[in-house]
Amino acid sequence: MDIARVAHRVAEAALEVAYPTRCVGCGRPGELICADCRAALPWIDQREACPCCSAPFGTLTCTGCKYDWETRACVAAWAASRTVTHVVTAFKDERELRLAPVIAAAMATALDEASACPATDGTPRFDATAIDAVVYVPASPGSYRRRGFDHMRLVATALAGELELPLADVLVRADARDQRELGRSGRLENIAGSLQVCQNVAGMDFLLVDDVITTGASLRACTRALLARGAHSVTAAALVRGW
Ligand SMILES: [Zn+2]
Ligand SMILES: [Zn+2]
Repeated sequence: MDIARVAHRVAEAALEVAYPTRCVGCGRPGELICADCRAALPWIDQREACPCCSAPFGTLTCTGCKYDWETRACVAAWAASRTVTHVVTAFKDERELRLAPVIAAAMATALDEASACPATDGTPRFDATAIDAVVYVPASPGSYRRRGFDHMRLVATALAGELELPLADVLVRADARDQRELGRSGRLENIAGSLQVCQNVAGMDFLLVDDVITTGASLRACTRALLARGAHSVTAAALVRGW
């Protein structure tokens, strides 16, 4: 064994000692998400969720969207909770990138369940054979600089692999103010003005991936941008539907 490989393995072992895997939900050593935290995840029952905005109990009436979002259907895996916030924060802000496939798997599970539920037009909320490509809500240049990676690209890549669909890098965001500094209307204007569709998307059916839906501003702006450029439909998938 050469010196470089020995050094690499020692460094790896040292890292494991210095930073043993801890549960991102409760900090307990062992797994990335421990059994107790996994059991406490607030899975949304897709039969009761709003087909248009994925609000957890919006199937009969929904104040979250009034059924006027541009998405063909919207599917989220989890409602908001403390554990869920810890998962999202660990992934986005603490660079726990091993969560990307975990998050993608949660979304794939929700999409699978939603395939048995009708969208607002009566067709299944999700059908992989009716999707041409996976796209994602791109990070703003500011968050990309701050984090050093586009977290949704990682999730979208993992999800596309899981669903055996191609990933399409068609949405680009120019510099704009940080969404977190802005109110509801400001968020919508901010992202809409900064979005560009950089490839021909005419006639395509997309699965658009985002992490957390709260107002739906980013998701809807991306959907509108794709539809304005001639995309046929946008089905949205998110990890969390917050309020
Ligand atoms: Zn835990
Ligand atoms: Zn709704």
